[in-house]
Amino acid sequence: MSRAEDFKIEVSTIFEGLRLVMRGSITEESVFPPFPEGDPRRIVVELSQVTRLNSWGVRLWMKWLWDLEKAYPSATLQLESCSPLLVQQLLVVRKFFPANARVRSVLLPYACTSCSAEHQQTFEAADPRLRRILQGGSSTILLRPCDECGSAMELEVNPKDYLKIFEKDSGTKAAA
Ligand SMILES: [Zn+2]
Repeated sequence: MSRAEDFKIEVSTIFEGLRLVMRGSITEESVFPPFPEGDPRRIVVELSQVTRLNSWGVRLWMKWLWDLEKAYPSATLQLESCSPLLVQQLLVVRKFFPANARVRSVLLPYACTSCSAEHQQTFEAADPRLRRILQGGSSTILLRPCDECGSAMELEVNPKDYLKIFEKDSGTKAAA
């Protein structure tokens, strides 16, 4: 399978809008499909299955997202299940997400403290547990134990990085 084939966006209709599920690696070979016709009120982009993003991919991604906003000026743009990969980009690339986009949920990666099993958990941005976990520091223990061995699991990313994306997010909200 070539890398270009590896990348996909699946489009489906949801209440008052569109849901776009992105999969695979975003590189210079990625082909973004044309936007569907219509006048959606909201667009949800689901990102949990984006596996890789190189520097060319970042440029294509940004162009696509900004074009998406232009194509549907009356729609709200919601980003769902932002993975650690995307959060990392958001921290280093200015305008990685358009100003009007909202992060609706994030994926937090955890690793077991005894068997190294990995687990990702989705949290809604508005979930007060997310704020508590992120403010608790890197040793924060996940609410549920390891599926494999029952031991405690630990957050595998720097919670401060995740807090920053919400600071950015609330900053753009305040400016809007
Ligand atoms: Zn375990």
